[in-house]
Amino acid sequence: MSISENINNYLKQIGDHVTLVAVSKTKPQEDIQEAYNAGQRVFGENKAQEMTAKYEALPKDIKWHMIGHLQRNKVKYIAPYVSLVHSVDSIRLLKEINKEAKKNNRIINCLLQVYIAKEESKFGLDESEVIDLIENTLPELKNIKIAGLMGMATNTQNQATIENEFNGLATFFEGLKSNQFKDSTAFQTLSMGMSGDYSLAIACGSNMVRIGSAIFGTRNYKH
Ligand SMILES: *Cc1c(COP(=O)(O)O)cnc(C)c1O
Repeated sequence: MSISENINNYLKQIGDHVTLVAVSKTKPQEDIQEAYNAGQRVFGENKAQEMTAKYEALPKDIKWHMIGHLQRNKVKYIAPYVSLVHSVDSIRLLKEINKEAKKNNRIINCLLQVYIAKEESKFGLDESEVIDLIENTLPELKNIKIAGLMGMATNTQNQATIENEFNGLATFFEGLKSNQFKDSTAFQTLSMGMSGDYSLAIACGSNMVRIGSAIFGTRNYKH
């Protein structure tokens, strides 16, 4: 199947209320252009400089999403144009994004990445850190809009484990939405689900899926 056939199939499968982020990390610009020509406008990358090079070369109506762990000294590269940062995993990072957003006279949309997996290596905040950040840090960050949450399930074949993690994040999301964010129109996005688990994620309440290898083919190197 071609990239454009894959895009069309996924758009059909996930339905209107779920946003497809086509994860193009490590893939050449031609592949992104092909997906673009099929109508795809939202692309996810995990390296600031790689995303910026692609941003500069490709059509300007593409929405670029940063989905990978972001170092604070790289924020300046993406602040002028990034559409959504999925991977806010510390207060220090959020403050840096706010600073660079202000320099660029922008408000940057962010998702808080919540740690839901059993693996030690995964980045993210736990629930109490999220609540602390929202209540104590966010009020002073005028150039940040928190648009929702992002999570990555454990990399396992065990569907019950994944389902449990997705349901936990969905419950936390709904709780924040009706409490801390009850007056926010921005807090709407629950980003969960990748190539291997997106349909389960949608069943658990995801409204944004990040699909890479199932659209563009397997990557040559891992990050
Ligand atoms: C690479 C990546 C994806 C996409 O993974 P696939 O399994 O190729 O669909 C999704 N989310 C994040 C955070 C990633 O780093």
